[in-house]
Amino acid sequence: MNNKIIIVGGVAAGASTAARLRRLDETAEIIMLERGEDISFASCGLPYYVGGVIPKRQSLLVQTPQAMSKRFNIDIRTLSSVQRIIPEEKKIEVKNLVTGDIYSESYDYLVLCPGGTPVIPEITGINKTNVFTVRNIPDSDTIRQYIEQEEVQSALIVGGGFIGLEMAEMLQERDIEVNLVEAGPQVLAALDPEMAAMIHNYLKDEDINLIRNDKPVAFEGEQNVEQVILASGTKISVDLVIIGIGVRPEAWLAKEAGLNMGSTGGILVDEYLQTSDPSIYAAGDAIQIKDFQTGADTLVPLAGPANRQGWIVANNITGRRIKYSGSQGTGIVKVMGMTAAFTGKNEKQLLKLGWDYRACHVHPASHATYYPGAKQMTIKLLFTPEEGKMLGAQIVGYEGVDKRIDILAAAIRTGLTVFDLQEMELAYAPPYSSAKDPVNMVAYAAANIVNKDVEVVYWSEVADRVAKGAFLIDVRTPMETKQGMVDGAHNIPVDDIRDRIDEIPQDREILLYCLVGLRSYIANRILRQRGFNTKNISGGYKLYSAIKNQ
Ligand code: FAD
Repeated sequence: MNNKIIIVGGVAAGASTAARLRRLDETAEIIMLERGEDISFASCGLPYYVGGVIPKRQSLLVQTPQAMSKRFNIDIRTLSSVQRIIPEEKKIEVKNLVTGDIYSESYDYLVLCPGGTPVIPEITGINKTNVFTVRNIPDSDTIRQYIEQEEVQSALIVGGGFIGLEMAEMLQERDIEVNLVEAGPQVLAALDPEMAAMIHNYLKDEDINLIRNDKPVAFEGEQNVEQVILASGTKISVDLVIIGIGVRPEAWLAKEAGLNMGSTGGILVDEYLQTSDPSIYAAGDAIQIKDFQTGADTLVPLAGPANRQGWIVANNITGRRIKYSGSQGTGIVKVMGMTAAFTGKNEKQLLKLGWDYRACHVHPASHATYYPGAKQMTIKLLFTPEEGKMLGAQIVGYEGVDKRIDILAAAIRTGLTVFDLQEMELAYAPPYSSAKDPVNMVAYAAANIVNKDVEVVYWSEVADRVAKGAFLIDVRTPMETKQGMVDGAHNIPVDDIRDRIDEIPQDREILLYCLVGLRSYIANRILRQRGFNTKNISGGYKLYSAIKNQ
């Protein structure tokens, strides 16, 4: 008998499940129910539509119900909200949001893809009319309309994650003065603090009023928010508020049906994405998944995993047994002219896990510097100290960040070491890369650490080491040091080191830095081979000034 499969939610995971199901089974009856008026829309493009970078609403519609229905022979019902699951009868109750009618549908398999819902903090005045979240196209239409009709001059964005940063750029694009308040010490929690520092400095340079370690406690005004009061007492006049502090799984439907829930609040599924009821599968932002590296329970509300999970569910329903191997949390975000990207574990997570690791920072150019337009990026690599196995990577820069993070993400997924990355043969011509690609370069730096050719220390520990007697050397040229030096440092340029060796104490720890870490590495090698106890400061003065100036 033909299977009847009902899918709840018609965007990333839902539409992906539906299309794959049809490609695998021409005979199944497939019904896709979507509460909203659109299916398969580009959530990730919503901020750009608000900002006008994507001018046409139409461009956000990856598929329309008519087109998808025709191509895949799927019964697509929009404005249809699933209100109840009755697992023992294998039935659901659906409300037609146009007529208000409630009807029931039976299923052989049910697939839950209801996504995530924006987290709304409890703040006095949060329900005022000019406080918005960005989840779907109607939300974006409303924000666009509000901006245009009310001639919005000033906005507050709450939350420095992806959506907050993208909205900051887009509102500024519309000549709106942007205040961005982040409760934590840094934006983009997936980055380590020194990497986030570069974004903080950039946002300041771009006239975004970034306020960290603070949060709104009251939205004041009549119908609209006119003034925001922050916990610190700061008051900001605004015409518009965007809340972007994350999403939580929209799991109520599953919960009310008695399906097992995960500890993170997501729907509990096994490795085949089957819930505690064998006839019900689930995929996307609503489910709890496993961390690819640790196996721990986690939530990763991103489009790549949602699409993959939808595809896997369809395979499993049609009898191909495929496991979901977990997510490593690879992400990328455009922050105006900058790009920040990450994959795998960051240092904060490794510390919490208690894993032994080493880190290194390099600042390579996006392509050969003699070819016009090269831009510097900062790469941080985290790896195991003995084998150099890749644990995580973060990149902040301008051009070429995207392709490097993808190589590093693939390296983590396939269990590569920094030695494998040294050897990786990557495409090169001057407009695109260097003969030693940034990925090769960071791998060489990391391999030097694993091979114990150099020891590294991090800026967070330098002051303490100097207080305990370490001798700090700045190996840049005297001209460069005019722009600033670290307190207590002695300037001995790398090219003078051999001649001025007598100035360097044999019996003390020697810490070296230059601008980016390359010349200080050379100085390290010179001194180490002469018996000095040297350490290179990872990331050099460039990283030091980013941290200091934020
Ligand atoms: P969704 O896409 O949220 O779809 C779930 C659908 O289910 C919704 O349309 C909802 O109406 C419907 N639904 C819920 N309950 C019911 C019900 N009871 N009955 C009927 N229908 C129901 N990810 C990235 O990887 N990169 C990005 O750059 C990125 N940018 C983003 C920007 C924004 C503004 C947003 C909001 C998200 C962004 N994401 C990004 C996240 C990405 O969009 C999500 O991870 C992905 O859409 C999740 O897919 P999903 O199918 O699980 O849920």
